[in-house]
Amino acid sequence: MACPEQRPTDPTGAAPPTLPAPPAPPDEDGGGSRAAEGSSVAGGAATALTTDVLVIGGGIIGLSVAWRAAGRGLSVVVVDPEPGGGAARVAAGMLAAVTELHYGEEALLELNLRSARAWSEFAAELSQAAGSETGYRSCGTLAVALDSDDRAQLRELHALHQRHGLSSQWLTGRECRRAEPMLAPGVRGGLRVDGDHQVDPRRVTDALLVACGRAGVAIHRASSRRLTLHADRVTGAELSDGTVVSAGATVVACGSRSGDLAGLPDEARPPVRPVKGQVVRLRIPTSRAPFLSRTVRAVVRGGAVYLVPRADGELVIGATSEEQGWDTTVTAGGVYELLRDAHELVPGLTELPMTETCAGLRPGTPDNAPLLGPSAVPGLHLATGHYRNGVLLAPATGDALAHSLTTGALPSYAAPFGPGRFATGAGPLDQPRAGARAADDLTGARR
Ligand SMILES: Cc1cc2nc3c(=O)[nH]c(=O)nc-3n(C[C@H](O)[C@H](O)[C@H](O)COP(=O)(O)OP(=O)(O)OC[C@H]3O[C@@H](n4cnc5c(N)ncnc54)[C@H](O)[C@@H]3O)c2cc1C
Repeated sequence: MACPEQRPTDPTGAAPPTLPAPPAPPDEDGGGSRAAEGSSVAGGAATALTTDVLVIGGGIIGLSVAWRAAGRGLSVVVVDPEPGGGAARVAAGMLAAVTELHYGEEALLELNLRSARAWSEFAAELSQAAGSETGYRSCGTLAVALDSDDRAQLRELHALHQRHGLSSQWLTGRECRRAEPMLAPGVRGGLRVDGDHQVDPRRVTDALLVACGRAGVAIHRASSRRLTLHADRVTGAELSDGTVVSAGATVVACGSRSGDLAGLPDEARPPVRPVKGQVVRLRIPTSRAPFLSRTVRAVVRGGAVYLVPRADGELVIGATSEEQGWDTTVTAGGVYELLRDAHELVPGLTELPMTETCAGLRPGTPDNAPLLGPSAVPGLHLATGHYRNGVLLAPATGDALAHSLTTGALPSYAAPFGPGRFATGAGPLDQPRAGARAADDLTGARR
């Protein structure tokens, strides 16, 4: 698709035409080279680094941005005390553009669909670059109803899919059980969505770390203590180990912590909040495989529950959705509700060994959509607020940010998600909160 904002680029893809040369770090000559300059980053002994792009936060989003930016010839430094950590260590990894469609989030649907389509190639490229698998599985999803109310809601979701030309097929209860024999006998009907796949987010972030390293990205294990500013321009950051990173562009990708970053000018502070999610992990013994052949989800007692079966035998059950600030405690109540509802859907799971419970924080925004690209403050870019779709949106975000870092503007498909939509007077996408609530009625309050 043509990108109207795109400026001519070097056909080799090497030169970043719009990034200013990074400011000179203390005691060094100015840089602007394609490779990060300065003292060695090994052992955290460095005191000054110069780079084209500084990415603050090495979760799935920051690493995707770093990898794609390095692929365009930019020098990149990622800073994170725990690179490859974050919410993706907890996430189920559903690539659920269609079954996750919520009323009032139609603008986001386009971005989600684009990223879902990109996943197959992204996974193949990443596997090759890292020499490891990502757990990408094109297995589809079955959303089922357990009673007549659920069935009526699912019928509405089907109608919404049809209005948007999305591919989903209505199945009777018997057809659902034929597709997934472990389903409870009481299942009343369901929607088969063959295009909603899954990936293993832990494998993806591990692979991204390796791929970034091989692409020349410097991964620095420290946190950003404070952004640095010069003449109203963000020029990089001071880190917790004393290192000063001078950068032509600084990308904030700290997930739910993005609005907290010290030194952020108020006009660029992203309205991101933490939304807690708990999950349970079980193991399917080989003797019980395949158990489930695709992701199965439902709304039980008003709360959404999903079961994501991985190729390696892991079964992820998720997820609670709780506004509890920074709390990541796994609670008896959370685990109980997940197992109770999952058991109603697939009674045989009580036989499976439980391997893990964990909780993470989704970076939520007022309209449930991400904040992407250049902010109101020169030198400062955002890649955050991906809420419940950060895994799904990793390929589109990486490409969109790499594009804006090299051309100065977001590609057209990402333009509606610029941070400017939350500036005073600007209208956020669609009808955010009211839309989200209506959607909760339909698709359940969890996830
Ligand atoms: C229970 C649960 C289930 C989910 N399921 C799905 C799903 O099925 N599909 C899907 O698409 N998405 C899912 N998500 C959402 C997805 O996991 C997130 O949207 C995504 O991981 C956000 O990635 P991120 O890199 O922006 O933020 P994070 O993963 O939070 O990473 C942020 C990183 O920034 C670092 N950081 C923070 N502060 C600083 C600082 N000052 N300096 C340096 N580094 C810093 C942190 O250490 C962390 O590594 C789920 C999330 C949860 C919690």
